[in-house]
Amino acid sequence: MTTSINYQQLKSPHLIIIGGGFAGIELVKQLSGKPIKVTLIDKNNYHTFQPLLYQVASGGLGPDAIAYPLRKLIGRIPNIAFRMAKVEEIQLENQLVRTDIGDFSYDYLCIASGSATNFFGNKELQENSMELKSIPQALDLRSKILQEFEKAVSGTESGKLERILNFVVVGGGPTGVETAGALAEIRKHVLPSDYTELDKTLMQVHLVEASERVLAAMSENSSQKAKEFLEQLGVKVHLKTAVQSYDGQLLKLSDGRTMETNTLIWAAGVKGEVPAGIEASNLGRGNRILVNGFNQINGYENAFAVGDVAFMSADEKYPNGHPMVAPVAVQQASLFAKNLQRKLAGQDLVAFRYFDKGSMATVGRHKAVLESFGIKMQGYLAWLGWMFLHLMLLVGYRNRLVVFVNWLWNYLSYQRAIRLITRPYTGKQSKGK
Ligand SMILES: Cc1cc2nc3c(=O)[nH]c(=O)nc-3n(C[C@H](O)[C@H](O)[C@H](O)COP(=O)(O)OP(=O)(O)OC[C@H]3O[C@@H](n4cnc5c(N)ncnc54)[C@H](O)[C@@H]3O)c2cc1C
Repeated sequence: MTTSINYQQLKSPHLIIIGGGFAGIELVKQLSGKPIKVTLIDKNNYHTFQPLLYQVASGGLGPDAIAYPLRKLIGRIPNIAFRMAKVEEIQLENQLVRTDIGDFSYDYLCIASGSATNFFGNKELQENSMELKSIPQALDLRSKILQEFEKAVSGTESGKLERILNFVVVGGGPTGVETAGALAEIRKHVLPSDYTELDKTLMQVHLVEASERVLAAMSENSSQKAKEFLEQLGVKVHLKTAVQSYDGQLLKLSDGRTMETNTLIWAAGVKGEVPAGIEASNLGRGNRILVNGFNQINGYENAFAVGDVAFMSADEKYPNGHPMVAPVAVQQASLFAKNLQRKLAGQDLVAFRYFDKGSMATVGRHKAVLESFGIKMQGYLAWLGWMFLHLMLLVGYRNRLVVFVNWLWNYLSYQRAIRLITRPYTGKQSKGK
């Protein structure tokens, strides 16, 4: 690293990165110490490790275990500065980013603003269901689950106990499967120890999935196994079933059935989180920004989008865009960092090709399904693999240690240690982002 490089003194080229998620922090790592002035902007002052949000929501981990302060990451990197700000508008023509703390002009722009929960335009669902996309939302959900138990014990809410103790997760992807598994573990281990007055069989966990299998991105065998694991834990899996409406108490399903529940967790889709200013003609499927094979926004040489927010159809194996997962974000960010330096050196850009290392999901306390490089694992070994990989992917040694110690404690004690209610009961999510 050259000591003469200094953010204040560097004038150009100036790169603005919007978003300190998986893509944003990879960019920070790759561009550290390079002769490029970099400003990282995020509305939060921390990076969120979203794959473990469900463990915060289910009391297995505290929020600090999966969040990492962005200033700690940037620390003394001489060419990079962090600004905590919400991007309100991007003006590509004027090379300007407008935020709630002022305007920033740039030579190069990389939009890495990730994704938001997709309710597919259903306002009633959005209003009444719980999301799992951010730390405030995970904490809200943790409180809500425990508040429902308190209500069930004290009988303060008139109405059926069934509605209070019915928990419905919608979406059979990894998030839905893992959340449903965690809820089933709570029923098995937390209810009998903390809520001895309650009959634990009254608590029901439902997983509703519109397609014909859970974990549709994995092989049929892994999907089937994950369903079996869930059912062994007592989760009721409803396949080929879509949600029609939910008013906060009554859930109507596509096959005509109804269910009463106070808690519906929506894990059925995400869409690009696109700051204002990007023209509709530059947006593709899932509200993602259309980019070419080099992650360049169509029509703009110096503006790029990477990760969840980017829609690239140029990678021939993924004509419908890449999956919205962390490895895509990391790989696109890594290539963009190299391509930016190639561009500055007058060299040709290299096209992006996604290298898929596989996928996995955990179900409950010690089971998982894992597929990687043609290897398919299910059960205990897959769970060990899942744990190891997540520990390695977490940012920072402290977070790894904290997560490891918590997992060990939870495993040995059969408990979810962080059973704290930290918000007043509103019945609904505060929609904190
Ligand atoms: C519950 C859950 C579980 C998941 N599990 C897995 C998994 O097991 N494996 C996997 O590979 N992937 C998983 N994913 C997906 C993975 O987290 C995403 O693919 C990944 O985070 C995308 O990285 P990114 O950098 O594009 O966006 P993100 O990591 O979402 O980062 C976007 C950043 O932009 C910031 N931002 C957004 N808008 C603005 C704005 N207007 N102004 C300022 N800042 C802004 C946000 O604060 C955030 O820090 C999961 C996602 C969720 C929600």
